[in-house]
Amino acid sequence: MSLGCDVARLPCDVAVLPQPMTTTYDPHHPMYLDEAQTRTALAQAFDVCNGCRKCVDLCPSFPAMFRYASQGGTSDAGQMTPAQQDHVIDECFQCKLCVVGCPYGPGQQETAHGFAHGSAHGSAPSYVLDIPRLMLRADAMRNANGQVTVRDRLSSALIGHADLVGKLSVQLARFANRLVGAKPGSVVRRLLAVLTGVASNRVLPLFAELRFSRWFDLHPKVRVGKKQGRVTVFPTCVVEYQEPAIAQALVRVYEHNGIECGLSKAACCGAGYLHSGDLAAFTKVAVDTVATLAAEVRKGNDIVVPQPACSYVLKHDYVDYVGGPDAQLVAQHTYDAAEYLMKVHRTEGSSLDMQFTGEVPDAITYHAASHLRAQKIGLQSRDLLKLLGAKVSLVEQSSGVESLAGLRTIKADSSLRASEQLGKLVNRARGGGVPGNVVCGDCHLSNTAIAEQTGVVPLHPLQLLARAYGFAAD
Ligand code: SF4
Ligand code: SF4
Repeated sequence: MSLGCDVARLPCDVAVLPQPMTTTYDPHHPMYLDEAQTRTALAQAFDVCNGCRKCVDLCPSFPAMFRYASQGGTSDAGQMTPAQQDHVIDECFQCKLCVVGCPYGPGQQETAHGFAHGSAHGSAPSYVLDIPRLMLRADAMRNANGQVTVRDRLSSALIGHADLVGKLSVQLARFANRLVGAKPGSVVRRLLAVLTGVASNRVLPLFAELRFSRWFDLHPKVRVGKKQGRVTVFPTCVVEYQEPAIAQALVRVYEHNGIECGLSKAACCGAGYLHSGDLAAFTKVAVDTVATLAAEVRKGNDIVVPQPACSYVLKHDYVDYVGGPDAQLVAQHTYDAAEYLMKVHRTEGSSLDMQFTGEVPDAITYHAASHLRAQKIGLQSRDLLKLLGAKVSLVEQSSGVESLAGLRTIKADSSLRASEQLGKLVNRARGGGVPGNVVCGDCHLSNTAIAEQTGVVPLHPLQLLARAYGFAAD
């Protein structure tokens, strides 16, 4: 099913695509989970990509897509079989990077509703391409139509229940860590993979013995001096149960700078369900979380999130999947942890304390997490780190595991290749390990992948800032 166009003739040719775009990306559309319509939408989108090919190096999805679209000496994504489409979908680990520079992506031609309804030229609908969002639709369609294996259902359930798994694992941290901390490829990990669908070949983040919210309740309340803001910390499951030191550093740095911190009553954003195709379970979590966070915003708080995939969900996915004024309100008031600090620093009348009397590294190798780049908010963490006076080298490469989906067996090989490439780039940027060079990144899952590939354990930017102010880690 060729669209009969190549990218050189876009966008006028794609402007006459027959299918209304609302079906393609709108999860509330009655045909959203229809297999025939979903597969047609995939063929249309893959045809546009096949004409463009800009994303060929981003992940294994695109090379597979282009190979299938070119089979038999033709150039037609419409000839792909459902199994070939499924292979392309399975290789996607939801890094979102293909929308960042896409000339047909959201923001280039999109309407205020998030879906295109008309072209700039008049009546014909314009074409908005969002491959990750289409992959989510395809996963949801396959899930709804019973096209996933029992093991995939198991891993979806496990990853989806990140909050419950985290609660139990923190209680039984020593036992849980003997399982998830077992050597990749070992018998324990292979058994775990069979039972849960979690990749046996990847290093997994360990669980903490004291969860962040417990630490928050115990830590002495600080009376902030000149008040510069009031936030609700949405710690996310990853930080709450696996790396609470990130949120502890966040609270110390914020309070030090006159930003009052409260703790979110909402626990999990539901990304695990969304990225596994369980639309009903995600929407249920999302509706509750939006209501809880919107109430915090109405009390005058902004929401800060120290894990990029989750701040992406609050800023973007809730607007699409829940919608309405509360979801918009939450999206407008949600900030990544460094983004909020830079807002304070750049706003007239407020600023960060620039007296860094603690430990400041000479040089920092900074990994820009894909889900932050996809938020198109600039490199706020990089700018924050520059305030320390250190030389900052930037690494922009997906880890393949920015969302937990990358740790599923089905995506293990493709995400591992991305992590290996990231490891090489980090090692190159840090000059092979020059003394005084610290590795740093916003995403704890990516940081775990960097540690796996390089042997160096990265810190979150807020942890570096806490050190620079002289705060000792707990
Ligand atoms: S996602 Fe956009 S930039 Fe990437 S190959 Fe497709 S059309 Fe080109
Ligand atoms: S979201 Fe990332 S992994 Fe998925 S197709 Fe786009 S670039 Fe590839």
